[in-house]
Amino acid sequence: MSKQKYLDAAKRAMEWHAEYRKDLRNCRFDTIAVHGLYSMQEALDFNQGSIIEPMYLSTSQAYRDSDEMELALGYQIPTWCYSRIGNPSMYYLEGLLALLEEYHSGFEASCLATSSGMSAIRTATEEFLHPDPQDPKRPRNFVATSQVYGGTYQQFSVRRDAEDKVEWRKVINSNDLAEWESLIDENTRFLYGEMPSNPTLAFFDLEKVAALAHKHGIPMIVDATVASPALMRPLAHGADIVIQSVTKSLCTSGFGVAGAIIAKKNIPCKLDNDALKADFCAYLKMLPARDNGPNLTPQQCILIINDVRTLRMKMDAMSRNTMKVAQFLEQHKGIEKVNYLGLESCPLHTVASKYMFLVDAEHDELYGKPVNRYGHLMSFEVKGGAQATRDVFDAFTRIWRATDLGRIKSVATIPAISTHSQQGEEGRKLAAIPSTLIRLSVGAEHPDDVIRDLDCALGVLDGKPVVHTTPEYSAGGASSALLRNPV
Ligand SMILES: *Cc1c(COP(=O)(O)O)cnc(C)c1O
Repeated sequence: MSKQKYLDAAKRAMEWHAEYRKDLRNCRFDTIAVHGLYSMQEALDFNQGSIIEPMYLSTSQAYRDSDEMELALGYQIPTWCYSRIGNPSMYYLEGLLALLEEYHSGFEASCLATSSGMSAIRTATEEFLHPDPQDPKRPRNFVATSQVYGGTYQQFSVRRDAEDKVEWRKVINSNDLAEWESLIDENTRFLYGEMPSNPTLAFFDLEKVAALAHKHGIPMIVDATVASPALMRPLAHGADIVIQSVTKSLCTSGFGVAGAIIAKKNIPCKLDNDALKADFCAYLKMLPARDNGPNLTPQQCILIINDVRTLRMKMDAMSRNTMKVAQFLEQHKGIEKVNYLGLESCPLHTVASKYMFLVDAEHDELYGKPVNRYGHLMSFEVKGGAQATRDVFDAFTRIWRATDLGRIKSVATIPAISTHSQQGEEGRKLAAIPSTLIRLSVGAEHPDDVIRDLDCALGVLDGKPVVHTTPEYSAGGASSALLRNPV
């Protein structure tokens, strides 16, 4: 077939897809989450009618002839080529996440899925931090909140600041606009903030900070992992690029690790790179990510797509449960302090209430009006020191002791000895992580049962013994053991 015929067919297909996407963008959040970009027409024509998105484990795609191959590898016709660059399952996941982040905002976003949240942060920030080609010795810096996830703290402080000599200028109080501004100079490449932050639930007024970034001609990057697009969509509030550790809220079932970058079109940035500015994620996908290879497997993409379909209802239920648990802990005599954005006693409650809403609550029969929801993540400080904190933690029976969050099951960790152990005492001070802090991510169990577990565990502070019994065999192994040893 001639090249022109391929190009004409590609044009018709792109028009069809654009039309389909336009229609989908008018649907409600749940509809987009359930269907994504996968249509019945595509299923019938290209996927044996399967009602679920394809999962092709193939490394690569075959072409009809050399003309088609050349056009595909030149990115002139729709293609996925090779699974390091793209894959049909990856396409549907990326399309889905872009649609959810841009939801009813009036602008279009695009997405690059990555192998982890950390690789999303690395891939998104790296492009802005390259040395200036005209003046390679010129200093480089970025301004970011000090209250960030422990892995982010390590990436920024060790990999960037110490190893690459790219200065991380830390914002200690992210609600102090003057502090942000005082740290920016002509060598600042971007502003970065995590909100709500893990594990201390720091939060800032994004619209104001994004306006500051734009005044200086640089992009605003926001890690919104804890909220997920069901509760907050930073692109609508001035952010240019959103980071998701897809591992967390987006994949509540806990089937694996993944990340995503979602960006607006035409982002501000001082680099002389038009393609990067025009469509950041498409640029990453076609060039740097192609060369660096931080991609995701098709199996992982399908597992995530499956979880995202029910995102909104899960984030609603988990938020309501967390509120109940936070209220219980707040009045408990063994607790020093509770960090939860939903509590009126929380100093950041007002600013969080400006941004965190259950999407479409006003179109929900149950609510019929905008409803604030503050997510599944909270943390609390136990009275009586580090050992008392460990004793309470060790007494949980229903809440799983695991370094994880966003799970459908309640999970808890002590950040000082886990997520935030590497950054040392001083780093923890900057990030406001005392050794008496327990991070709790509340799941979708009945909240009364989570509260009962906490109440029991806090009993150790009054000297009540907690007796753990451990079975000698797992129940899963029991039947085979019985079969081998018939009585
Ligand atoms: C977990 C987490 C990350 C890192 O994500 P991974 O998928 O574990 O690599 C980044 N940011 C936040 C806020 C997180 O909670």
